[in-house]
Amino acid sequence: EQKQTINFGAGPAKLPPSVLLQAQRELINYSGTGISVLEMSHRSSDFNKILNQTETLLRELLKIPVNYKVLFLQGGGSGQFSAVPLNLIGLTPDRCADYLVTGTWSAKAAKEAEKYGKINVVHPKLDSYTKIPDPSSWALNPSASYVYYCCNETVHGVEFNFTPETNGVVLVSDMSSNFLSRPVDVSKFGLIFAGAQKNVGCAGVTVVIVREDLIGHALKECPIVLDYKMQAEMNSLYNTPPCFSIYIMGLVLDWIKNNGGSTAMEKLNKQKSSLIYDIIDASNGFYVCPVDRICRSRMNVPFRIGKKEGDDALEKEFLDGASKRGMISLKGHRSVGGIRASLYNAVTLDDAGALAAYMEEFHKEHQ
Ligand code: PMP
Repeated sequence: EQKQTINFGAGPAKLPPSVLLQAQRELINYSGTGISVLEMSHRSSDFNKILNQTETLLRELLKIPVNYKVLFLQGGGSGQFSAVPLNLIGLTPDRCADYLVTGTWSAKAAKEAEKYGKINVVHPKLDSYTKIPDPSSWALNPSASYVYYCCNETVHGVEFNFTPETNGVVLVSDMSSNFLSRPVDVSKFGLIFAGAQKNVGCAGVTVVIVREDLIGHALKECPIVLDYKMQAEMNSLYNTPPCFSIYIMGLVLDWIKNNGGSTAMEKLNKQKSSLIYDIIDASNGFYVCPVDRICRSRMNVPFRIGKKEGDDALEKEFLDGASKRGMISLKGHRSVGGIRASLYNAVTLDDAGALAAYMEEFHKEHQ
């Protein structure tokens, strides 16, 4: 008898079962072509259809204004840590950019950007990544090329529930781990990017949504594959794109659309994360989430067990018990330890409910 597995991984993460089944059905003979998407020329009309359908779905789901380009690139979120400054830091001659550093991923992005210009962290350095400094404490540079932030810090579980006000300076956001988990007003952004492997597909493709007037300002040393201008002109086909990952993304976007779009995802993600946070909050300190309530992530819920800094033995027992119940990939990121439950779009309310029930049971057993 096969036990049902629930994947709470932080990425690559759970995909909707119906998407996997469709990919399986179509794997060997895609839509009567006699070949697999894996074998298909990226210049073929069949692949072009896949690419264009994927873009159309994304435009529809996020109501992307017409003056934005959508690119499907390789290199992951990390590739965009370099591509963003390479393409945008030259928007102003003194090559300055503002960064908010609220966790591992924005810290890495800022460090990478330092290779290309002067990076100003706009708030006092945080000694732990558990909060978002109040905007009143930010010192934004009005002549910065752009302001960069990570909308959801996957490792620390810190999520922005507001869009930073930049007073007209171009706003750039890494939405890798909360992309399409809630509606977003794209028009407030100069650029949004997101790796697919959390909410919208599998690893290999990174979506870039960029306002047209920001294209064409790349530094001359920008690698051609990361140059938004070239990729926009070539409809993401300057070189071979991650064809299969784009195809999978198309299937996931279709699934999101058929399940009510970003508004329905938001409602469900609120419910799922509340189930877990409610157990934490009602546990009298048995479970501890270190993140400020106001910026608790709906995607990645990090917590410790037993005491504030975590009881290693108890946490191991929790993970072992979870694994016996088919709940996997709950271990916190190696840099922070503890537990992390990732609750991306494909994780169901029942999945989150199963975890909540286990957390209650585990707490009772250890009272
Ligand atoms: N940004 C965020 C918010 C992430 O969570 C990750 C990966 N977990 C990255 C960037 C880096 O993505 P990649 O591994 O695709 O380079």
